Amino acid sequence: MTMRIAIIGAGPSGLAQLRAFQSAHTQGAAMPEVVCFEKQEDWGGMWNYTWRTGLDQHGEPVHGSMYRYLWSNGPKECLEFADYSFDEHFDQPISSYPPREVLWDYIQGRVKKAGVRDYIRFNTAVKNVSFDESSKQFTVTAHDYALDENICQQFDYVVVASGHFSTPNVPDFAGFERFEGRILHAHDFREATEFKDKDLLIIGSSYSAEDIGSQCYKYGARSITSSYRTQPMGYKWPKGWEERPQLSKVEGDMAYFIDDSSKRVDAIILCTGYQHHFPFLEEPLRLKTDNRLWPLSLYQGVVWTDNPQLIYLGMQDQWYSFNMFDAQAWFARDYMLGRIALPSKAAMEADNASWRAREESLETAEQMYQFQGSYIKHLIDQTDYPSFDIDAVNTIFLQWKTDKKQDIMGYRDKSYRSVMTGTHAVPHHTRWLKAMDDSMQEYLRETNSKAKVATL
Ligand SMILES: Cc1cc2nc3c(=O)[nH]c(=O)nc-3n(C[C@H](O)[C@H](O)[C@H](O)COP(=O)(O)OP(=O)(O)OC[C@H]3O[C@@H](n4cnc5c(N)ncnc54)[C@H](O)[C@@H]3O)c2cc1C
Repeated sequence: MTMRIAIIGAGPSGLAQLRAFQSAHTQGAAMPEVVCFEKQEDWGGMWNYTWRTGLDQHGEPVHGSMYRYLWSNGPKECLEFADYSFDEHFDQPISSYPPREVLWDYIQGRVKKAGVRDYIRFNTAVKNVSFDESSKQFTVTAHDYALDENICQQFDYVVVASGHFSTPNVPDFAGFERFEGRILHAHDFREATEFKDKDLLIIGSSYSAEDIGSQCYKYGARSITSSYRTQPMGYKWPKGWEERPQLSKVEGDMAYFIDDSSKRVDAIILCTGYQHHFPFLEEPLRLKTDNRLWPLSLYQGVVWTDNPQLIYLGMQDQWYSFNMFDAQAWFARDYMLGRIALPSKAAMEADNASWRAREESLETAEQMYQFQGSYIKHLIDQTDYPSFDIDAVNTIFLQWKTDKKQDIMGYRDKSYRSVMTGTHAVPHHTRWLKAMDDSMQEYLRETNSKAKVATL
């Protein structure tokens, strides 16, 4: 009987899994029966922007946390697919920090070329996954909202590629219930112009805090106050942006901080992170972890050690992203196709423990992306995913960190060389701080006629 595989989610991770199987198939491997369940009506996961917040048109929690005017927050040279370069997609050099729509187009280019769309069941939310010990089969229950019907099917493997930046982690602070302004989590942030001429308080000091604050500054917020729990972000912020320690309470429209300082604010955005949340998996199958480089229970970062027929993709904290999902998907594919054998459970756990010990010894950002780079290299060495120069990517990460320290509002104007093709990125026609229109059409203006604007 043909092996049956369910993939949950058609974001970059789920699409990497589809592309991995298709790639093996073109080289003669049998194609398993793959069904990719995607609750949204299109592919691309986070990169498929939605204006919706709260519940979607079907009453499902909105997956998207991306907002308008989002430009890549790391150099595209660090996330480039090794089997589908930016050069191949755009036919000419583009800048190093493209806006969301451009990256979405790039993600789509590869899977359109691979012809894998028919494996995806859109508008179909997975509701439950259980495992039967006697038959060694998963039962996946889902609802197809296009047909308005329930689906219940059996699978040999389940690949969870549902992302982990969607279910917000929402703290409470004294006085919130009587705050005289708007309070929202980053998950619900969409449109920076809403905060034009407003005094904005941002809680948190992670990427979301830095980037949402920068967006709001760029689109005309009167002031940004960002509040940190442990350490300030420490960038040279432009005039009108200051960092304060932890918020202690809110009274009326006044925010009070633990250093006894205060500030009047119009709105509060909670950039307080996300939870790994898998309500559709039965309890024994659920990964429980905080956002870190080495979650436990995943052999090679992907295979669930308690039940190796269950695979998770993209569950790590992400320095590397698209090409890490690829490395994982290729490994998972070869394991499912029987090309890679797993050691005993004890050996998998020992292997996990040694990666975790290495992770726990990391102190600097540089050590962290080097660690993740070495993990990716370790995966790629076991499959036929095209190898690439991880050390060169690490060097780009290092330069990116330096550029941010020098100019947090200008780092996106820098350009790097692709480690895949050697092509040097070109500066964008408009400096990021002045580039208000983030559409692909505007982005590719001034490029030659070969640009694939037609895919819009
Ligand atoms: C605001 C924001 C900005 C980011 N910026 C960058 C950046 O600049 N560069 C970068 O490299 N990364 C960035 N990321 C990280 C981003 O998450 C990854 O790039 C990537 O999208 C992760 O891919 P994924 O497929 O693992 O998850 P996702 O992209 O989240 O895709 C998961 C998919 O699973 C589907 N799904 C979930 N639950 C179900 C269900 N029950 N049934 C069916 N389908 C389901 C979802 O609809 C979604 O399509 C950003 C993330 C956020 C939130």
